[in-house]
Amino acid sequence: MTARRSIIPVFVPHLGCPHMCVFCNQRRISGEQHPASAGDVERAVAEGLARLPAGTPVTLAFYGGSFTAIPAAEQEELLGAAQPFLSRGEIAGIRLSTRPDAIDDAVLERLRRFGVRTVELGVQSMDEEVLRLSERGHTPEDARRAAKMVREAGFELILQMMTGLPGDTPERSLMTAREFCSLRPDGVRIYPTVIIRETPLYDMWTSGAYQEHTVEEAVGLCAQLAEIFDASGIPVIRLGLNPTEELSAGDAAGGAYHPALGELVLSRRYLARERELLGPSDAGRVVTFLVPKGRTSAATGQHRANVSALMGEFCLKGVKFTESDLPPLTVRRA
Ligand code: SF4
Repeated sequence: MTARRSIIPVFVPHLGCPHMCVFCNQRRISGEQHPASAGDVERAVAEGLARLPAGTPVTLAFYGGSFTAIPAAEQEELLGAAQPFLSRGEIAGIRLSTRPDAIDDAVLERLRRFGVRTVELGVQSMDEEVLRLSERGHTPEDARRAAKMVREAGFELILQMMTGLPGDTPERSLMTAREFCSLRPDGVRIYPTVIIRETPLYDMWTSGAYQEHTVEEAVGLCAQLAEIFDASGIPVIRLGLNPTEELSAGDAAGGAYHPALGELVLSRRYLARERELLGPSDAGRVVTFLVPKGRTSAATGQHRANVSALMGEFCLKGVKFTESDLPPLTVRRA
């Protein structure tokens, strides 16, 4: 799927966004930037192609809000600028992200005409109350309808969900994941809520109206979500916000921001498998686990967190790992 291709990103400041989701600071960002133009697209693609080895499969991705909510003429200008690259075979596809309530037949017809291959829907939650408290401005039913339309129109469908939003609970996130599976996306992205400065969520947090979703909570919950998606054969193509200098330097004031969130979640999934292989009779023993090649670090956990947890819980004398020819996420006792 296109998720594995090299991506050339074009940021589309979301000037026309009719909403103010409590967690989003797109307006502040877009206020500091100029709208993307055809020239920006041409430059980004030409520069991106120049950096990549010839023959690399490349996808042009429009990031930064709700592409199909911007005026149709601007959408056509941006998509039109990509056409020469598409027709020369220099880019293999176009992907973009948008809101569930910014999808209709005319929108999908336009995207098809301009060679868009992948549509990402920012759904965030399938719980009515979470969407309302987060001021998303759309309903779970909008998401169901849009996902069905995108899929039936033949596009690749990627669904994005968040955890830890206002009103959210682990049960509601697990329900969202199960509903996502029933919508049969080609992939999902999971973004635990990060409290970004200059957002309504930041004010809610500082006033005590919102409790932050901690990294620890997010890791435990995302490990469960990943199991649900895995069981349905749906790839999780992103877990956690992309780390940026601004976020790391303080724009992320609280919440589940961690530059290596995906690795923490993977380690947690290994920990669950390791636990299942242990029992009271292991007390006082040194236990050796067989893990897939290249996965000793994930199985050990950051700062040996998995080892410490298992030694404490099962009174082990030690834990060792041996890499073996095993499928991903498989752990056995030696
Ligand atoms: S719809 Fe998207 S861009 Fe607009 S405020 Fe919400 S998250 Fe931000």
